[in-house]
Amino acid sequence: MKITEIKTYLMHAGTGDALAGGWARRNWLFVKVFTDEGIYGVGEASGWPRVVETAIHDLTEILIGEDPMNIERIWQKMFIAMMGHGMTGIVGGGALTGIEMALWDIKGKALGVPVWNLLGGKIRDEIRMYAHAGNAETALKMVERGYTGVKAGGVKNPLQRVKEIREAVGPDVDVMVDVHGPPWLTVGDAITLGKALEEFNLLFYEDPVAPENVESIARVRRHVDIPLAAGERHANIYGLRELIERELVDVVQPDTGRAGGLMQMKKQAAMAEAHGIGFAPHDGSLGPVAEMAAVHLLATLPNFLILEHREDDVPQRYEVMEPQPIIVNGSILVPDTPGLGVDIVEEAIAHYPSRGNISAPEMDEYVYVQARYGRDRWLKA
Ligand SMILES: [Mg+2]
Repeated sequence: MKITEIKTYLMHAGTGDALAGGWARRNWLFVKVFTDEGIYGVGEASGWPRVVETAIHDLTEILIGEDPMNIERIWQKMFIAMMGHGMTGIVGGGALTGIEMALWDIKGKALGVPVWNLLGGKIRDEIRMYAHAGNAETALKMVERGYTGVKAGGVKNPLQRVKEIREAVGPDVDVMVDVHGPPWLTVGDAITLGKALEEFNLLFYEDPVAPENVESIARVRRHVDIPLAAGERHANIYGLRELIERELVDVVQPDTGRAGGLMQMKKQAAMAEAHGIGFAPHDGSLGPVAEMAAVHLLATLPNFLILEHREDDVPQRYEVMEPQPIIVNGSILVPDTPGLGVDIVEEAIAHYPSRGNISAPEMDEYVYVQARYGRDRWLKA
């Protein structure tokens, strides 16, 4: 079998005005890798989707004629091919991921087995997920739908919101908080916040500091006695190596669209497993294909903890892929169909042309960068 063509599908994955902030500018990028035997594979890439799309087109010419079954060989060929561009981070990681994911889909279809079977076989039949909850009311709604874990994301008033959510859901639901490693939260503030969060029995405190300087999270680690989580902005085994080897976090969170591919994530998980670190992939900005790819991988991992899921996502999520995942009581059932078991719906994707592609910061938070305005909102409940 030989690779003959690679196509990309970029779409707007937000709602409303693409010039508004946050999710309104989200885009999804899907990939199809075609072969001379009529089998094709689908994948999904994140990591600045419009830029990654160009990277995938650049890589395509060195992949035509390759046997798609040789996934590690093709990954190494792409990785070495990008070397001249320097360390390409999550943009390169996204390009590697979209193509590599589609190769697993091809291999599974060619052999008539689900991707989880190729990755070692499954440990579990369903993948437990947590939902996002910005306040106590949403948290209770998610618990009613069967979720046993909720995460307070967003960057405003994290302590106040965690307190309200924990009081609302009681002690038996896992509560997490993500402060998104903002460059405007100092390490000292992250420590103060972490100490204040200790009493709420969190499953993890995510991205307390920006990821660029590993010593920052090392400082938080020394002073805060709750599980820490990080890793969504890192690619490949090299990106997570120091966090894992120095045991600076309790949970790693590679993004299934830009971590470098399913085999890179399998390797990352093995590195983490050797250090007693859990695995809870980032999914917040991803579309449905990457989510299903994560389900196949996570079915095989002994140190899988929990998967992120946007329960109330944009309507197009349910239009651009088929079949839909089966979610029961906050868990996705692991499918038995060959490959990833899903396909994209090109006609539906065409209804959502790409817009935006980079999120607009909330400027009132940036005031804080300049003047540390509103510090009390962060650090008091
Ligand atoms: Mg996050």
